[in-house]
Amino acid sequence: TQLPSDPNLENSRRQVTEACFSFVTPKKTSNPELVHVSQDMLHALGFTQEDAATQEFLEVVTGNKVLETTTPYAMCYAGHQFGNWAGQLGDGRAINLFEVTHDDKNWVVQLKGAGETPYSRSADGLAVLRSSIREYLCSEAMYHLGVPTTRALSLALTGDRVLRDVMYNGNPEYEKGAIVSRVSPSFLRFGSYEIFAARQDHKNLKVLVDFTIREHFPHLGAPSRETYIQFFAEVCARTLEMIIHWQRVGFVHGVMNTDNMSILGLTIDYGPYGWLEGFEYGWTPNTTDNQHKRYRYGNQPNIGLWNLYQLANALYPLIEDAKAMETILETYTTNFEIQSFAMMRGKLGLQSDNASDVTLIQALEDALQLTETDMTIFFRKLSGFKPDQPSEGLLLVTDAFYELTQVSDKIRAQWNAWFERYAERLLAESVSNSERAEHMNTVNPKYVLRNYMAQLAIDAADKGDYKLIDELFQMLKKPYDEQPQYERWFAKRPEWARDKVGCSM
Ligand code: AMP
Ligand code: MG
Ligand code: MG
Repeated sequence: TQLPSDPNLENSRRQVTEACFSFVTPKKTSNPELVHVSQDMLHALGFTQEDAATQEFLEVVTGNKVLETTTPYAMCYAGHQFGNWAGQLGDGRAINLFEVTHDDKNWVVQLKGAGETPYSRSADGLAVLRSSIREYLCSEAMYHLGVPTTRALSLALTGDRVLRDVMYNGNPEYEKGAIVSRVSPSFLRFGSYEIFAARQDHKNLKVLVDFTIREHFPHLGAPSRETYIQFFAEVCARTLEMIIHWQRVGFVHGVMNTDNMSILGLTIDYGPYGWLEGFEYGWTPNTTDNQHKRYRYGNQPNIGLWNLYQLANALYPLIEDAKAMETILETYTTNFEIQSFAMMRGKLGLQSDNASDVTLIQALEDALQLTETDMTIFFRKLSGFKPDQPSEGLLLVTDAFYELTQVSDKIRAQWNAWFERYAERLLAESVSNSERAEHMNTVNPKYVLRNYMAQLAIDAADKGDYKLIDELFQMLKKPYDEQPQYERWFAKRPEWARDKVGCSM
């Protein structure tokens, strides 16, 4: 591709037609400072700790230096936001720096918060420390939980102040600017395809789909109508798998707009996400979605399907076989039932087949919502259940109840009945209690990034203390392990943090 002679002339905010991206130069920052680096990601990219300690590394991951021979760019995409077509969006504050190939894997390194792009619309292209800490910690935590996700390489302060419309005493507040360098095999989204379909630019739609298959789905072979159908089927399967993982660990994305849906089925764009504390299908961390709760926990699988319908519409001009596409979308629903059931059985440590499991799981989900019951603590403690002592079940999970006084006699009776059923069901299993516990502890995490934990790290970092970021980062690398030194984080959300969810912008 020809580089424009004067990139600045090209970079005014605008509609960008017939193109997948625009070349952009990151903004210079005044006083960059590294806060944290993911050693895992560093090594995955083939860099060393010494590399990360150099001035050049700092300058590259804060946008102050563009490596020779690299041409940073922002991507053009559109999207459906909260169910409505939003037209062109694009990387308003993300800039792809370069690609790295290491150990036969290709990675794109991207800066989030490195300044304006042609897609910034009315915003500043910047990110604040608060939202950057949240993305940095959560994306790496999700990776270690085994959830498909984009990754993070570094978290840095820019030294610049960023104006945000969080109001204090009626005045907008300046906050510390920050940049996260994110890493993924690709940052392509459903919206990347939707934009060409909406503009009836089928030529470039095909160019992009062919590129995607060649680069990221090479096993599908040479482009043809059949390949496109298989491509769509695979995106559906990956999206479903990702969402089942979200449901398993209690992650609520919060903004499942089609511009935030990765074509690779990776969790992307950590904004107002949150973690379930009390198990509740109606819970959403997104305060702007409080009325309709479109992106609530229990609705994520449906929204995944709704978004795939939008992708189907976008790919239709290349496939022109509505029947085939509908069949694939119906498979999503069937597979959701199957996989969600298998996931829940895993959480309960059930290995053999049993017709009664559907109602056993249903009864558990009902019981969990009787009073506020901590999902993570409940399932983790459940691995200690002894089928020959069903009456001990409730005591075992006591720590999971937020208000013990709300656990009335009636609720107690319902729980005891459930534990009786569970005990009886476990008798049909052939594995020992300890084997079952071991298996359950590989799917029920002990440590997740509770909303208040991120908030504590943010508050400390705002005062220049980054120890908690590192502590949480280290702990979340082993979410399924017993880590006695971090036992204090295996606890219910403290009372002061009720209803406090870190906002993201
Ligand atoms: P999100 O819902 O956070 O994924 O963002 C939706 C759209 O708004 C995307 O096109 C973002 O690039 C853009 N956007 C969000 N925040 C900013 C910002 N501070 N500056 C420029 N664009 C932004
Ligand atoms: Mg986004
Ligand atoms: Mg965002």
